[in-house]
Amino acid sequence: MAKEELECSFCGRKKPETNLLIAGLDAHICDRCIEQAHGIVVEEATHSSNAELSKELMLKKPKAIKEFLDEYIIGQEHTKKVMSVAVYNHYKRLLQPPTDDDIEIQKSNIVIVGQTGTGKTLMAKTVARMLNVPLAIVDATVLTEAGYVGEDVESILTRLLQAADYNVEKAQNGIVFIDEIDKIARKSDNPSITRDVSGEGVQQALLKLLEGTTVNVPPKGGRKHPDQKFIEVNTENILFIAGGAFDGIERAITKRLNMQAVGFSASKSDDAFERDNLLKYIIPKDLKDFGLIPEIIGRLPVLTHMDPLDKGTLRAILTEPKNAIVKQYKKLFEMDEIDFVITEEALDYVVDKAIEYKLGARGLRSLCEAVLTDAMFEMPGTDDRQLHVTKEYAEKKLNKSTIKKLKAVS
Ligand code: ADP
Repeated sequence: MAKEELECSFCGRKKPETNLLIAGLDAHICDRCIEQAHGIVVEEATHSSNAELSKELMLKKPKAIKEFLDEYIIGQEHTKKVMSVAVYNHYKRLLQPPTDDDIEIQKSNIVIVGQTGTGKTLMAKTVARMLNVPLAIVDATVLTEAGYVGEDVESILTRLLQAADYNVEKAQNGIVFIDEIDKIARKSDNPSITRDVSGEGVQQALLKLLEGTTVNVPPKGGRKHPDQKFIEVNTENILFIAGGAFDGIERAITKRLNMQAVGFSASKSDDAFERDNLLKYIIPKDLKDFGLIPEIIGRLPVLTHMDPLDKGTLRAILTEPKNAIVKQYKKLFEMDEIDFVITEEALDYVVDKAIEYKLGARGLRSLCEAVLTDAMFEMPGTDDRQLHVTKEYAEKKLNKSTIKKLKAVS
């Protein structure tokens, strides 16, 4: 065939009409057809990865998500509702095929404000469990700007990769829970923070991840090292949940509320605000005043709060969740064919001690452990088949020094 008669086997363009004509075994393809074919390949890949994702992902409707959360988390109704909607929208966004309109649904990254031990981590864990996606839990206090002693923010993604068994696709649809986000607040705005000013640098570094970017992640963690092979991770579809206690933020909220109340014939007196859980009134500006940079706040558009745990909640946490502490002990004893019963009074007693020594929900487990260790040590292998824990029994096992020790480690 003469050179000028060569043509693209796909579109029929003659060689002179093309910029490039590549020869195969029995056919030719021109540059335009290559580009078109490439477009099809990319589109197919997105479709099939969406299909792959929807197969793996157990996405329920918001009400069903909330019902799932209810099984594991006591109270915190507001946050459970907010989380259900945010999580639903986030994953709905991932599952939808690309559209031609210019409406881009933004990520629903979340920030949860609440005292330690009120279930922020539990919330993130439960959502990840429900969706069947990998979860990385990281502490913002260990993060530093690149070049400082500590971990680069990329280490967050190393953890996520590890949680996803190095399946990059899964990691890219996973959840990252960043605890203690309040500890990287800017110092100048927040005198209670003792860290140096690098807090702001860490926030800047985090911002990139929150915004959605492609990051070279060292698979084994640690510092970036020139010889280490990196794994590329795109953070665009990762759901970030940040949590923090923001100690003292209530003062800023009260101040703001009181200022608002002036001139508006206050419907609530100071006292009424005091008695309330002030976190209920939190707005993004309060986080800014605390020292988070506005860009970070903008990338965490869903702001919610946790209620402090009162006596009734602590009591319910002991027995009601699907994997409640008491249910776990019952199962452990059952494995040794021991029938474990604990009286209402004994449970109330444990809760009272948790409150008295300010041990919170985390302390409940340690208190139960202290009450039951002797029985768990002595009973297996004996003929004893009954463990009846009364208030007196619990009192005997939980003397003051044991509780003090618990307090020291909590
Ligand atoms: P935070 O992240 O806010 O410090 P965690 O999620 O680590 O708190 O909570 C500590 C433990 O307390 C959890 O493992 C859980 O067992 C228990 N807990 C806290 N709040 C709740 C709750 N609302 N419902 C059930 N368990 C809770």
